[in-house]
Amino acid sequence: MFDAILIDKTDDAQSVSQTQIDTDHLPEGDVLVEIAYSTLNYKDALAITGASPVVRKFPMVPGIDFAGIVRESSHPDYKAGDKVVLNGWGVGEVHWGGLAKFARVKGDWLVPLPEAISMKRAMAIGTAGYTAMLCVQALEEHGVAPDAGPVAVTGAAGGVGSVAVTLLAGRGYEVAAVTGREEEADFLTSLGASSIVARDELSGKPRALNKERFAGGVDVAGSTVLANLLSMTRYGGTVAACGLAAGMDLPASVAPFILRGVTLAGVDSVMCPAPRRRAAWDALAAELDMEKLDALSVELPFSEVIDAAPKFLKGQIRGRVIVPVA
Ligand code: NDP
Repeated sequence: MFDAILIDKTDDAQSVSQTQIDTDHLPEGDVLVEIAYSTLNYKDALAITGASPVVRKFPMVPGIDFAGIVRESSHPDYKAGDKVVLNGWGVGEVHWGGLAKFARVKGDWLVPLPEAISMKRAMAIGTAGYTAMLCVQALEEHGVAPDAGPVAVTGAAGGVGSVAVTLLAGRGYEVAAVTGREEEADFLTSLGASSIVARDELSGKPRALNKERFAGGVDVAGSTVLANLLSMTRYGGTVAACGLAAGMDLPASVAPFILRGVTLAGVDSVMCPAPRRRAAWDALAAELDMEKLDALSVELPFSEVIDAAPKFLKGQIRGRVIVPVA
């Protein structure tokens, strides 16, 4: 028996509890992982609170990512004792996830943990940090070079945003950190932001085109914020969009695309093909300033995860939330 968080649904009412599960009840898979650390992500908070229909199969163990040690494997790439990390693939949504002591998963979903990253730091990075790297790589692939001019990061004080600021600054970009939390300005500057932009400046009714201000951007917000960012993107620039913290809609015009050659690059971490995700983890191991990473991570006891989820959705938690699994 082991500890797990379990979400259940009966007669349209969702319940969530910390409970004990038998290893025999784990779903099918060719690798059994003993989890050392998981995290609380925006999507986990949505799943735990039921604020959005993230969970598509009940009962469900939430937790879209984890780092741990392989205990049993019939997959050719993994043997007992290997350290691994998992992000996405529907884990915590349709397949039991990381907020439990054990998970049984498909070996094809796992990434070998790079030497330079401990299991705890892997989860300080988590899905948010790995997504931030996918966004940075998207900007690079679309030719937004560090000397191109200021690059905006929205939701800068959040999980994806704070790692994106750190990574971009580390690569030599001039980072404009867009935040709704003025009080986080010093924190964002310490991560490498060159300027702080009030979220309000990107929250008004979007115009088709605005003054060209940013060479590109990483957007976690969607909706009006993304529409404004696109309208402010310089000729030939690229915005990597990965989130919907402000909303799922996009009240934009095609003007930035057809008049300024702007690219909107979609970033998905969940079904991202294995070679691309391994490249992202290798780049994180090579580039991420681990001391800055430690500064933007907080540890949340397993027993407090359920209570923390609503606070997370209200944007009251800064940076990355690591959950040591008891
Ligand atoms: P966090 O809650 O840690 O960060 C979100 C940040 O967005 C907040 O901290 C806040 O930053 C900002 N924000 C909150 N509300 C609004 C709003 N109404 N308008 C504009 N900005 C807002 O979440 P994560 O960083 O973990 O995730 C960010 C987004 O990215 C989520 O939508 C998540 O679902 C998505 N995501 C997508 C992935 C993918 O594969 N595509 C993977 C991981 C995450 P501040 O206070 O600085 O303004």
